Amino acid sequence: MAVHPANHRPGSAYRAHVPQILLVEDDAEIRRALIHALTDLGHVVSSASTAMAGLQSILDAPVDLVVLDLGLPDVDGREALRMLRSVSQVPVIVATARDDERVMVDVLDRGADDYLVKPFGPAQLDARIRAVLRRLGDDGAEPATALVVGALRVDPTSREATLAGVPLELTPREFDLLGYLAARPGTVVTKRELLAQVWRLPFGGADKTVDVHLSWLRRKLGETAAQPQYLHTIRGVGVKLTAPTA
Ligand code: CA
Repeated sequence: MAVHPANHRPGSAYRAHVPQILLVEDDAEIRRALIHALTDLGHVVSSASTAMAGLQSILDAPVDLVVLDLGLPDVDGREALRMLRSVSQVPVIVATARDDERVMVDVLDRGADDYLVKPFGPAQLDARIRAVLRRLGDDGAEPATALVVGALRVDPTSREATLAGVPLELTPREFDLLGYLAARPGTVVTKRELLAQVWRLPFGGADKTVDVHLSWLRRKLGETAAQPQYLHTIRGVGVKLTAPTA
């Protein structure tokens, strides 16, 4: 693995967190060009030329986002994505030479956050990187302050949630779901948005997953769909979290 630090510019020490990008690409020419361009655009870029080297690199040093070429010499790109997802939830943008919708749907189902069809320019890749990081919120960082909705308190830093001071026993996914809704009190959130933002999945087929987790969450909050306190289902639209009215 090679690390290519971002250009040092005057005042760069005062800049916000610079995203660390891992580029997994076997074509040396493309790799060199993208590293150069992305570094110029202010990213810190490390690179690997095989899937296994890329995976090892992520285990050694976490990054903010991975750009993964699907056509790698050692492991099929889709298998590489599956292996990556088994060890990390890092955002992934897949790059492929094949403009094949089935492949795209498949990689998104396997947990890719976005994809690009080759050939693409560095400006386009940069835009996608920024969009993915923005979508995942403030460069992937959780909000530092606890979210309070009525008697419900969700602390993203300690990953603890309490209701009227009583700790809620939540699975990691239930916590993420509750945290996502608590960050948007009173706002109707669609199941599509929840699948994309909490599960990082495209819509279709898995929407029952959201319903099931919402019902578990509802039970842990001690309420029912028929008599909601915090979790309100808006039929055909989505769900919103609000403080109960007195
Ligand atoms: Ca390739």
